[in-house]
Amino acid sequence: MSFENIEHNIKKILLDIGDRNTNLLAVTKTRTVDEINYAIHCGVRHIGENRVQELLEKYDSIERDGVSIHLIGQLQTNKVKYIIDKVDLIHSVDSLRLAQEISKRALAAGKIQDVLIEVNIGGEESKGGVDPDDLVPLLENISKLPAIHVRGLMCIPPIATQRHQNLKYFLKMKQFSVDITEKKIDNIDMDILSMGMSGDYEDAIEAGSTFIRVGRGIFGPRN
Ligand SMILES: *Cc1c(COP(=O)(O)O)cnc(C)c1O
Repeated sequence: MSFENIEHNIKKILLDIGDRNTNLLAVTKTRTVDEINYAIHCGVRHIGENRVQELLEKYDSIERDGVSIHLIGQLQTNKVKYIIDKVDLIHSVDSLRLAQEISKRALAAGKIQDVLIEVNIGGEESKGGVDPDDLVPLLENISKLPAIHVRGLMCIPPIATQRHQNLKYFLKMKQFSVDITEKKIDNIDMDILSMGMSGDYEDAIEAGSTFIRVGRGIFGPRN
């Protein structure tokens, strides 16, 4: 993929978003630092990596001025310490144990870590994320931890075979976020909804996504 295409793709997605309250998060796994910095020059303000090792390798070379760094992939408890001083938002918290470790490391680093709770919205065995039935109990437990702040929810729906197949999941996520807001749980906010990828971000925007996470739609196919 040429750099002109990257610029074109970013402009198109920003046009699709229009004046809605959705942010574009560029998913940069497998991409070079040059590609990432080019995307930043084209106006991308949020970068998401899904593996700790890859984030650490690129971190110092990314032009991070005015740019937020997101961890969007599954996070092992023993790796939290490597990224706690580097990430603005962790999208993939799905257990109390992980939340406890994040809170502990954040406390030691002198920060409050913003996180999202990943919901296994399609009920898939193979995927991370908390079962919707366990969501509120998990939030109630996390709300007691000192240095972690839940800002909303994230999901990775099942792979779609048809257009608009994931709209129903996105609408469910929006409903969860509304229902949880009404519960007014201490220290739990629901101002962020991270959902929508290259193939389905338009439906996600319609359903109220505040972060679409787009990789191939910006940078082209991954090798
Ligand atoms: C890779 C990835 C994406 C982006 O997927 P594309 O199909 O390339 O847009 C979004 N979210 C997560 C968690 C990912 O791992």
